[in-house]
Formats: sequence, structure tokens, C-alpha cells
Amino acid sequence: MQNIVVTGKSGAGKQPRIDVLVSEFGLSQLSTGNIFRHYLGVFKSLGHERSPESYWDAAADGFVPDAAIRAALEPACAAKGIPVDDAVLGLKAARFVDAGLFVPDSITNALFEGAFQKHGGRGLILDGYPRTADQARFLLDAVSRAGTRLDAVLIVDNEDELIVGRTIGRRICPKCQKVFHLEFKPPKDGRLCTACDAEVIHRSDDTEEKIRTRLAEFQKKTLPAIGVLTGEGIPQVRVPGNLPVFTDEIVRASVMEALAPVLK
Ligand SMILES: [Zn+2]
Repeated sequence: MQNIVVTGKSGAGKQPRIDVLVSEFGLSQLSTGNIFRHYLGVFKSLGHERSPESYWDAAADGFVPDAAIRAALEPACAAKGIPVDDAVLGLKAARFVDAGLFVPDSITNALFEGAFQKHGGRGLILDGYPRTADQARFLLDAVSRAGTRLDAVLIVDNEDELIVGRTIGRRICPKCQKVFHLEFKPPKDGRLCTACDAEVIHRSDDTEEKIRTRLAEFQKKTLPAIGVLTGEGIPQVRVPGNLPVFTDEIVRASVMEALAPVLK
């Protein structure tokens, strides 16, 4: 197995399936969230005095030329032993993320390929990428540039209403990150972490409105991305996100069974 895409609705239950792929095939998880955190962190660590926005050319609706950004970042990068290319990517991402702006595919693609190449383009579980049809086309090119391949797209299936119910009841311990559910795995006295006694919180991402927005995004953008990959002959494998009995062994068996035809 060289690379596999794991996708599904937000809250479908991707992580336990990714854990199986890590342990069974020795693959590494490459998630978009971590890629962004990495490059944003690289840029922040420079302590650069100018704002990312100041490298934006409003008239051209784009960044000033890369050479100018590199020249500005080079001294601090050299002093700290940071690759300039990484700092440039971090600055570009920060211009959108810091302002809460929608991140264009061109930026997400550039960050993805930077991270993908660092791993030699193989041995990866792609998580959270591709999320649009454009990203999927970019991924196919990036894989071909790396001389590797995508073995499968694993889709974790789950019903919208189950996801909504599970997510709005979710509570998280802000101290130790333990996850609870008001109905299925309640905190102590309905509000305290059973491990460290901190008061559990309802994350602002876990409101019904936000969940429904993410579910609609999946239909509108991610399904077409999956369509691009399967249209190019990448095998599609589906696993149930909701199992009647949920144990590590049952999750493992369901993933391995679904992958069997691809592994042949
Ligand atoms: Zn806790």
C-alpha cells in the first residue's frame, strides 16, 4: 500500500479507521489540519515584523512575486535554520487564516504538496484532502509527479441524523481532552470530567448549525472530489461508520474486509 485517501462526512468516524491503517500497513497520517498548523507555526516562529497582508497586491488580487517574499524572509530563515520555501508557504496561509478568510485551493494545494514531498509522496493516509474537485485533480498530478500512486479512496459512511445527534451531545474536557457524550458516555453529574474533575465544555464547532453546514459542504464539494478520483480509476472502498457493536477488533475487521479486493 503506497497511499490511501480516507474521507467521509465530518463526524462520520474517520479516526478509528485511520488508526487501523496506521497499525496494519505502517502508514503515516497526513491531515490537512496538521499541515496548516505546521506551516503557520514555521512562519510565526520567525517573528517577522511585517504582516502577511502587506505582501498582498490588492490591484493584482494576488501575492507580490515570490522572489520579493523570499528576500524579506531569508535573513530570519537563515538565522533560525528554517527552509525559506516553508516560511513563504506559512506566510501565504497566514494571510487567509489569520483574517478568517476562505483559503483558496491554490494555497491548500501548495501546502499539501510541500508536506507530501517531505514524505517522498508515499506511505501516507490523506485525511481532509482532497476536499474539492480541483484539489482532487491537483492530487492526481502531485502523485504522478512523485512517481507514486493512490491505492484507494476509503469512504466512512454515516447518516446525517446520527452524526448530528452524536455531535451536539459531545462534551470535551478542556484539561485532558477526554471526550464524553451526554447520552452515551455521560460526564460525572452531567458536567464533570471523570478523569480530572474539570468542567466539560461544548465546543463552538459542535452546534447543530455548524454541523449541518459541514454536512452540506461534504455533499457540495467533497463528493465531486471523490468523483474525480474514482473517475480516474482509483478504487473506492466503503466502510460503515456506525457499527452495532464498536470494539477495536470489529473496526479492524470491517476495514480489512472492505480493503480485501484492493489488496489482491
Ligand atoms: Zn479531564
